[in-house]
Amino acid sequence: MRRTYKYRVYPNEAQKAWLAQSFGNCRWLWNHMLDVRQQAYKERGETLSGYDCDRLLTALKKDNPWLKETPISSLQQVDADLDHAFKAFFSNRRKGRVVSRRRDPKTGRPRNPYGHPRYHGKKGARESICIKQGSGSSSPTIYVDDDGRLRLPKMPGTLKVHWSRMPEGAVKRVTLSRDRCGDYFVAILCDGVEPEPQDHPKGNVGLDMGVKHMLVASGGEVVDALQALGRNWARLARLQRKLSRAQEGSNRYRKLRRRVARLHRRIANMRKDFQDKLATSIAKGYAVVSVEDLETKWWWQDGPMAKKAQEAALGQFMALLEQRCERYGSRFVRVGRTFPSTQLCSACGVKAGPKGKEGLKVRRWVCPECGTAHDRDLNAAANIDREGLRILQAALRQAA
Ligand SMILES: [Zn+2]
Repeated sequence: MRRTYKYRVYPNEAQKAWLAQSFGNCRWLWNHMLDVRQQAYKERGETLSGYDCDRLLTALKKDNPWLKETPISSLQQVDADLDHAFKAFFSNRRKGRVVSRRRDPKTGRPRNPYGHPRYHGKKGARESICIKQGSGSSSPTIYVDDDGRLRLPKMPGTLKVHWSRMPEGAVKRVTLSRDRCGDYFVAILCDGVEPEPQDHPKGNVGLDMGVKHMLVASGGEVVDALQALGRNWARLARLQRKLSRAQEGSNRYRKLRRRVARLHRRIANMRKDFQDKLATSIAKGYAVVSVEDLETKWWWQDGPMAKKAQEAALGQFMALLEQRCERYGSRFVRVGRTFPSTQLCSACGVKAGPKGKEGLKVRRWVCPECGTAHDRDLNAAANIDREGLRILQAALRQAA
């Protein structure tokens, strides 16, 4: 099993300089390869792949020797990330899936509806580099030395890490980052970590995730998103308004920007903590956890910032829940996007419930066939639970 561990790190001055150089190199390479790919397409109708870009690296390093200060795997990762971004863009365009509704204020035309990869600016970006473990029979290039300090290829010296717990398994990859508050972190991806199977006393469950409640379980439990987040969102909006009125470059501006960054981080940490506890208790409690694929809920896209953040948070939560299920030995089942979880009656199976955009407002309904009174979300959760079990059993039969 794979697992990612995250720690705060304390680079010295030389390491900070090296990190700044490497963050910059990766940003430069991203922008450069974006140019190269666009030009190849414009001039020769050629679509370059990530590997094509990797092949250009040798020559590029000769012309730009400062690139050599950064591990080659970090540069290759930039090519891979850019390739990934292009693939997502092509797929969105093919499927007509709009990911940004921003419009040009002058022409009124959509700016970048399918999410074409964009240039990375210096301002405000979270900076990071990814370094891969050396492969093959050679000794590892990333390791913790006898003094408990982290050794990384090309980085001067060894890095001081605050080990809240030691990582298990074999290190595959590390990501070093600097957040907007100026603090440094390392995320260590390990393979071969032992799962920790649990008893799962509560059996199986279906989860309906949504706008009204964050989560409704088929057993009847209701979990709402953190109320404190809402209050902090309001504070953040207020701070951001102040920031937009402040003179750029002034003392007041700098102070406000720091406060915005800190509040952002606080919100992120609170959410992470909340999600962690919830995902852990679900994964420990249930042997089978069924959820609905989130893409059904894309119509919130026009909503305000808090709504969008909520949607992003649900996506994060699903990914986290899947990881926790793996760790604690339970089955995580995704129910397909086309499954009409809100429309089916969970008592008799007839398809008579609320549907479409108007149906979103319907909280309660009575089945015309069997007369059962339904709570919209609870009924959906029950259907998701049943469908998840069906999918799992079919998969098990096929495997046997
Ligand atoms: Zn019915």
